[in-house]
Amino acid sequence: MQTKAPMQRPKTSYKNFPMVPRVVYGRGSFGQLTDILLPKRRNAEAPFIFLVDDFFEGSALEQRIPWLFNDQIIFISADEEPKTQQVDALVKKIKNDFEEMPSGIVGIGGGTLLDLAKAVAIMMNNPGPSSNYQGWDLVKKPALYHVGIPTISGTGAEVSRTAVLLGPEKKLGINSDYTTYDQVVLDSDLLSTVPKEQWFYTGMDCFIHCVESLNGTYLNAFSQSYGEKALSLCKEVFLGDLPQKESEDKLMMASWHGGMSIAYSQVGIAHAMSYGLSYLLGTKHGIGNCLVFQHLDRYYPRGVELFNKMKEKHGIQLPKNVCADLTSSDLELMAQISLSMEPLWENALGRDWKKHIDMDGLLSIYQRI
Ligand code: NAD
Ligand code: ZN
Repeated sequence: MQTKAPMQRPKTSYKNFPMVPRVVYGRGSFGQLTDILLPKRRNAEAPFIFLVDDFFEGSALEQRIPWLFNDQIIFISADEEPKTQQVDALVKKIKNDFEEMPSGIVGIGGGTLLDLAKAVAIMMNNPGPSSNYQGWDLVKKPALYHVGIPTISGTGAEVSRTAVLLGPEKKLGINSDYTTYDQVVLDSDLLSTVPKEQWFYTGMDCFIHCVESLNGTYLNAFSQSYGEKALSLCKEVFLGDLPQKESEDKLMMASWHGGMSIAYSQVGIAHAMSYGLSYLLGTKHGIGNCLVFQHLDRYYPRGVELFNKMKEKHGIQLPKNVCADLTSSDLELMAQISLSMEPLWENALGRDWKKHIDMDGLLSIYQRI
């Protein structure tokens, strides 16, 4: 009798991460949302909940949201980064408002709304509070069907498997296989109203994703292929003289590719340090990254050189003396939060990263911001 050979387990275990299974791309593709949602409607009592950046309240886009039956549109401010308590309150409201479980959640906006919608979709099917899931692979049950529609480009939140939230103890994402969107609609017509400075800050998030991924020790051919494409698109957008629409189309794709690049590598020093700023001062992600990145010429010389050119070309003035009024214990707390992001430092500086950066090194950078 023949016996089966024992199964060989691979020596190394590679990440097996999910990608967005369905994506529609094109100007005007928002109009296809009716048809996209229709087969996902379980019945007339199971609504779709649209979480929409309140910038669009009263706008032409609001009129185009394909609500039917008892669907609900909830406008949300993106002035502050999303919080775990905000997610919990939204889930409670939706569960109170409807007897039937919704058919799905649709997030329309920038990284803030996209992350909120991902987190709400997860928490509709998992017991709270949402802060229990800040970390890696802590979510047990699949999320409710969720659709992401970016209206500003750069974060890559539309493609990533994380929903970054500010919690009671930390700013950390819900990183899970259930976080990734089931459907994304990429319609660059929605970007036309983004104000210039915000366009720059969110766009630089993408540029910094590329620099940190391409200069990291975790780099591999998968990440590199997406990172290089995203970087070259960023250069066209921020250093070239493209017509507005072409620039919007390209930044939308740069954001997607930048997100894909870090999916299989990691971000680096600017992100680690901007998390500290955000936690203590509420500094938003895009501008926080820029505030740190300008001082990282020692680590990313070519990237900082390009960043300065882009900043100059678009006449962007970054705020100064942001950390001037902080006490030494505030600064130390920021540095501690930053140093706790170990994978980011390891990616940036290698396994022996602790030999290359310490509390004093970080404090001297924060003091210059
Ligand atoms: P945002 O969503 O915070 O929005 C920034 C500003 O732009 C807001 O005032 C918003 O109202 C406005 N805005 C958005 N679209 C607009 C439009 N079409 N016209 C006019 N104004 C518009 O911006 P963001 O930079 O995309 O997102 C930042 C958030 O993304 C942070 O919370 C950060 O933690 C998160 N993030 C998530 C990931 C991820 O992978 N999940 C990655 C990076 C950043
Ligand atoms: Zn980022």
